[in-house]
Amino acid sequence: MRSFSLSAGEILTPYKKIKNGVITIENGIITEVREHRERGNKKISSDFSESIIVPGFIDVHIHGIAGVDVMDAMVESMDKMRKSLVNHGVTAFCPTLDAAPLDHIKKALKTINASKRSNARALGAHLEGPFLSPEKPGAMISENLRTPSIDEFDELWNASKKSIKLTTIAPEVPGAIELIKHASSLGVTVSLGHSNATYEEALGGIKAGASHATHLFNAMRECHHREPGILGAVLEDPKVSVELIMDLVHVHPSITRLVCKLKPKDKVIIVTDAIRATDMPDGVYKNRYELHVKNGEVRLPDGTLAGSTLTLDKALRNLVFKLGIPLKDAVTMMTVNPAKDIRVDDEIGSIEVGKRADLVILDKNLNVTKTIVGGEIVFENLKPNRSR
Ligand SMILES: [Zn+2]
Repeated sequence: MRSFSLSAGEILTPYKKIKNGVITIENGIITEVREHRERGNKKISSDFSESIIVPGFIDVHIHGIAGVDVMDAMVESMDKMRKSLVNHGVTAFCPTLDAAPLDHIKKALKTINASKRSNARALGAHLEGPFLSPEKPGAMISENLRTPSIDEFDELWNASKKSIKLTTIAPEVPGAIELIKHASSLGVTVSLGHSNATYEEALGGIKAGASHATHLFNAMRECHHREPGILGAVLEDPKVSVELIMDLVHVHPSITRLVCKLKPKDKVIIVTDAIRATDMPDGVYKNRYELHVKNGEVRLPDGTLAGSTLTLDKALRNLVFKLGIPLKDAVTMMTVNPAKDIRVDDEIGSIEVGKRADLVILDKNLNVTKTIVGGEIVFENLKPNRSR
């Protein structure tokens, strides 16, 4: 049996903070989490006294990185995504598909399953398109949006080998309520988004089973004090979790702090919505249209925001150093919360006995120094304390 122990100046499980803690790992599973002094005579394999160990980050909304995109529908692209994400502390993610012809979406879904089981875990797709409102396409191509259809969803569900974890649906379009009920009954987490729903229409979606909102505020009807719209509905209901893109571009810091005060602590989920230009130089990138990337901001030629070049380690530093959110809360929003949201929290998302050893070791500046997936070191930063 392969067994080893890690000790660190601080462990954030993230339910609790353990000073001078020790984690024991056997065959990729956490078998013990304790304070160092409790049984100090036990052998420690690696000591990170200047570091913080947190659970691996989980991104439930990410399209691409390092020049590749899920919609390339190529195994090589998925493998590259898995490899690139661990550089940023991401140990699990939902490869996110946008609106495209059905056959193309099916091909992309099949590629996710065909990708190698190494580096970051691909948990199953986030089907962001195609059942969205043509009034709020965001950066989606309007012609690829489709009227919600249970038959078409089932075609995609089967192509994915029943592995879709999350799907975004606009609740106000014809057929949406039936599809929300259907997808929920299959165990898929349904998210409201790319939507011009009124308050009442959004409540209908929540009643039908939706429990998540896609990139809150973006590609959504605005909130008015006499017609609060979808935003009012998802912010008010404590059962609905909300995604925030924490690049300081998609949502103003003040709004982020307000959302963190309004929502229960376990219902805020940090995502990147990152695209292929992430970890790449500024310039023009071709997806199904031109994406102009300048100072890391991604826009269509008409100026519409089209995803981000954010990574979750950067999002963590933004939350803590730019917004003043406590580290424990910030870590919770990118580990336990997404794990619970897509119902994988029995295996990953926290540092507890019985969970998989998916861990990130951070320095005091919250830079990733090591990423561990299933007890294996998959990334090591050989230049710690680099400034950002
Ligand atoms: Zn997206």
